Parts: sequence; C-alpha cells; structure tokens
Amino acid sequence: MEHLYPTYYRAFRCIAADCPDSCCQGWDVVIDSETEAFYNSVQGAFGEKLREAIFTDADGDRIFYLSEKKKCPFWGEDRLCDIYRELGEEHLCATCARFPRITMDYTVFTEHTLALACPEAARLILTTDNAYTAFADIAVKECGDYDAAIMRRLLDARDRAADILTEHIPLFQRLEKLLHHAAEWQKKLTGYTPEGAEGVSSLFAALDYINENDRVKIARAAEVQPDFIRREKELTNLALYWLYRCLLGAIGDLDVTAPIRFLIASVGVVANLAEECGDIVAAAQLYSKEIEQSYENMERLWDAFGA
Ligand code: SF4
Repeated sequence: MEHLYPTYYRAFRCIAADCPDSCCQGWDVVIDSETEAFYNSVQGAFGEKLREAIFTDADGDRIFYLSEKKKCPFWGEDRLCDIYRELGEEHLCATCARFPRITMDYTVFTEHTLALACPEAARLILTTDNAYTAFADIAVKECGDYDAAIMRRLLDARDRAADILTEHIPLFQRLEKLLHHAAEWQKKLTGYTPEGAEGVSSLFAALDYINENDRVKIARAAEVQPDFIRREKELTNLALYWLYRCLLGAIGDLDVTAPIRFLIASVGVVANLAEECGDIVAAAQLYSKEIEQSYENMERLWDAFGA
C-alpha cells in the first residue's frame, strides 16, 4: 500500500510555548478510552485533577472541561502542557498526540497532511513549493470500499487541477479555469451541470464561530472582491493544500463541485483577511480554525457549494 506525504509533513515540529495561538485553546479535546483508563490509574493530586477535568459531552464523547476563556485545564501559565510535563509525551491522549497530523485513508493508499489550523503547520504549508510531487500518478487497485474506476477519474481530475493551479498565468485566471473544468468533471461524473452558488458572505456570517469577532472578520472578507496579485505564491500553495485535502472526498458523494468552490471561496476570504491583518499565515490559520476544523461548518458549506 502506498503512503503519500507532502514534503512539509516531516519538517513539522510543534513550537509549543512559542506558538502564537495554540491547539490548547478553543477546541474540545476528546479523550480516547485507553488514555482515560490510564488517567484513572494515576495516583495523587494530579490523578485527581485529571479525573475531575473529564466529562461526557452532548455527543457522548469524553472531553476535558475548558476554562471560561476556552483553555485546556492542563495548559500551564508557561504555555506548556502539564500532562506532558507530569506524565510524559506517551500519555497524551490520541487527539493531542496526533495533532496537527491528518491521515486520509482510501483503503488501497493513504494520504497524509497537516492541519492548517496549527500556526506552525500553516507556515510550512504556505511557504513550501512543490510539496505534492509524490501525489501524482497514483496506481489504484480494485477494492471493496468504492469503485476504483471513479477513484482513477478523481485522481486524473486532481492531477489536472494541480496543473491548472501551477500554470504561469495570474491566480484569478487559474481559479476561473479550475471552476470551468470542475463543471465539466461534474457533468462527466454525474451527468448534470452545477448551478451557481450565491450569497457567500451571508453564508459565512451564519456559520458557528469560536470567537464572535471572527464572524465579523470572515463575513466581511467574503464580501470583497479579493486581490490575488499580492501574496500569489502563498495563495497558490493554499489552493493546492485544499485541493489535496478535499477533492478525493468526492469518492463518497460524487460531488467535485463543492470542494472546488470551497477552495476558491476560501482562497478569496484568506486573501482579504491577510490584507486586513498583514499576515497570510495568521489569516489562513484563523480561517482554518474557525471554518475547516468545524464539522458542522464544513457540512453547511458543502450543502451550499455542492452540485
Ligand atoms: S497549534 Fe501546532 S505549534 Fe501550536 S501548540 Fe498546537 S501543535 Fe504546537
């Protein structure tokens, strides 16, 4: 089985106390049962603190209580993890141990990437060129989970999309061309041409946000026509990131329109956020943390952008 990695994957190192945001703030941390069983065996005051910090949420997951400022209770004043310090790295729960590494399992091959919501991962994703050369010409064997012929068509479409995104023409022209091709791929795949998606700004305004200020920022960024000329290199790397992160998901619903429209809308919003804050890495990371890491938000965008 092939396991494919972008070139930035192995360069990642958590920058811990130097992180400008932190995965220890704003998100629920789901504790796997094996880790919780170990935490139940920890003696002393720290063991008590661990057990008191875990509860069952509305989805039935075992998670840590967050503080009023939505911080993990084990995130110390020095911005380092108390569990890591007290028990060692091997006793982090699977959620913390894995983040920001992501595995996409397509049964006969796996693809790996990093979550853009991590500031250090975002820096690598946006500044590494030619990161996906290993992902071309993947040979797909028959398997029981999906139709291998459709997967091959999706991979061909993705290779073509990557070619378009790296052409030597202005980025807005590449994105227009990509949208045009996506309509053709959709027609070949399902026999129908997607209708236009409307009201992008109101769509973003209605999503769920960790921080209410981000709702205003992102909805405003979705309103304005983006300037793709500045920061073209980073925006191209961002578009490629979402191409490799999302397009093969169409093996489940045969919808190639939603991932391409999501990619184009997202690159536009991040371009405008970067204009506002002057930092493309911070803009992409904020957008990903608020939008891409939320299952509910992504579901709503897929419904709105889909064919
Ligand atoms: S967000 Fe990334 S760099 Fe920051 S603390 Fe978490 S893993 Fe480390």
